[in-house]
Amino acid sequence: MRAVQVLGNEQIMVLDRPDPEATDGLVTIKIETSAICGSERRGYFGEGVPEGNGGHEAAGTIVDADAPTQWQTGDRVTLHSAAPCGHCRHCWVGNWVLCESRERRGTRGNHSQYVATDPARCLPLPDDISFEIGSLIGDAFGTPFRAIQKVGVTVLDRVLIMGQGPVGLAATMICKFFNAQVVVADVNEYRLEQARACGADETLNPNSDDVQAVAPHVAFDCTGNSVAQTACLDAAQVGGRVALIGVTGNGPSINTLEHFTKKELTVYGTWYSTPVDHLDLIEIIRRGLSAERIITHRFDIEDAPEAFSKFFAGEAAKVILTPW
Ligand SMILES: [Zn+2]
Ligand SMILES: [Zn+2]
Repeated sequence: MRAVQVLGNEQIMVLDRPDPEATDGLVTIKIETSAICGSERRGYFGEGVPEGNGGHEAAGTIVDADAPTQWQTGDRVTLHSAAPCGHCRHCWVGNWVLCESRERRGTRGNHSQYVATDPARCLPLPDDISFEIGSLIGDAFGTPFRAIQKVGVTVLDRVLIMGQGPVGLAATMICKFFNAQVVVADVNEYRLEQARACGADETLNPNSDDVQAVAPHVAFDCTGNSVAQTACLDAAQVGGRVALIGVTGNGPSINTLEHFTKKELTVYGTWYSTPVDHLDLIEIIRRGLSAERIITHRFDIEDAPEAFSKFFAGEAAKVILTPW
């Protein structure tokens, strides 16, 4: 099969690898679409990815199974980032992402024609939801959706979203779907243009605009940048809610007296998504959320070097690789 090899130092190769086999209780999936995620930044700019690539946002069809499972050959599935162990407190309530078991199996390397993976990691993808959208449900939309659900965004909220990369754009679309007023901020003008196309009511560039003046009820950081995270805590109005979604960086500068004692902010920890978020998002997409709007580029897997370079140059929103 053809597969992406992330070499590091901004170098990508596409090479032949042996087809993975459905052994050890695994199923094999024929990958139809695989999205590049901002969390692959470290491998791309750093020392590469030993197991090939960090692809974890994929959808495809079941082609083989080692043991009887609920899946049949040809079933359409989307792949969650990691399988549950299935028997810890967090897994029992569906919070797979909090599972700390060593038995759980995640499968990276999804930028390839096939993967072998834990059948528990597969979630059903109904026929009316495309593979492309299927590959966005778990992370690109699922991550902000979980945060938005936790924070409880309503029509009465003015929301500030720092960062309009793919996750920030998806947050904008979901908050608009819930009829909140949405103000977004990004230093990249291309991304602000995308945000307007995704329904943002107002777009700000923190280099020239006053983000503090927004005084939002709810602030989301979708950058992972310490300055933007701190801006969320500073800008949120008294009694406001904040969720830090971005996964890089060193965290905000917290002033416990100003942020917590005097302003009584509530800050939500939130990480990835759950299988229930997957079901809810499918319902929301059926009711009209145009999830495909955050896809700006599609590349054949052979053009993965160009796809990665465009994505990490900030010249694209979501980038989809098609391996066939
Ligand atoms: Zn991701
Ligand atoms: Zn578990």
